[in-house]
Amino acid sequence: MILDGKATSMTRQADLKKTVESLDGAPHLVVILTTDNPASTTYVKAKEKAAKKIGFKSTIIHDMTGDEADLLKTIHTLNNDSDVHGILVQLPLAEGLDVKRVMDAIDPKKDVDGFHPINVAALFQNRPGFVPATPRGIIELLDTYDIPLSGKHAVIVGRSQIVGLPMVHLLTQRHATVTVCHSRTVDLKAHTLSADILVVATGRPHLITADYVRPGATVVDVGINRVEGKLIGDVDFEAVKEVAQAITPVPRGVGPMTITALLENTLDAYQQLRSQT
Ligand code: NDP
Repeated sequence: MILDGKATSMTRQADLKKTVESLDGAPHLVVILTTDNPASTTYVKAKEKAAKKIGFKSTIIHDMTGDEADLLKTIHTLNNDSDVHGILVQLPLAEGLDVKRVMDAIDPKKDVDGFHPINVAALFQNRPGFVPATPRGIIELLDTYDIPLSGKHAVIVGRSQIVGLPMVHLLTQRHATVTVCHSRTVDLKAHTLSADILVVATGRPHLITADYVRPGATVVDVGINRVEGKLIGDVDFEAVKEVAQAITPVPRGVGPMTITALLENTLDAYQQLRSQT
């Protein structure tokens, strides 16, 4: 079975659009871009397009000076602007900018990427807060296809703050038994072969081949790698789909779910901020 992130996203975005139409205002997402890195520019444009399509206000701020004090001032202004509900600073940041200081500056109530330490701690403690978009989107995709998580062995390859580590918490909350692998893991294959659910987020094209996957497993490929002008994942899709029971493609898998989850976080931010005024 193909876990179709594109189709699932379209359905969820149609629902979001209906919700937005019923509001007496529009959620406003502001994305700050600090580099002209082509991948970042593409992601930011995709986010803007999706936001506008469902009736959000969307603003992209190009802050390319590399001046951290200026960037922090911009974030501060957005924090205090009641017309702004979600603030996202696209990563990676331009060289010389300190990611921790920048994330710390965003109002946690508008931190729709879920990278502020308050939101990270909320996830750790299973409290309400913003969950990073990619992990949120992955769980929503698994739920859409009724993939059971409770009691299952989930193996996550990759331990980034953005994907791997938040997945540990989300899958543990859903009662999976979780193993985390990374570049120092000895005998990666021994771990992946015992996975019921295998989540791969390494940025290593086709790291996971069919012999790494237990027959009947569910495989989630987060990787986006441009190789010879083509987008491919961290999983060898063609070979692994013959072994796995369910698998996400690249593209049309986790990528669109990430964008949809970001929009859902922004709607949540809007509703929470509105309920406080
Ligand atoms: P990072 O580079 O931050 O982390 C990569 C992780 O993979 C690290 O923990 C690293 O281990 C581990 N790793 C690298 N090589 C190996 C290996 N050979 N064996 C086992 N583990 C390995 O990446 P991100 O988590 O930010 O992104 C991962 C991929 O997902 C990228 O391709 C990125 O483009 C994509 N991505 C896609 C998104 C989407 O919406 N679809 C969203 C976010 C990311 P160590 O910690 O030891 O270095």
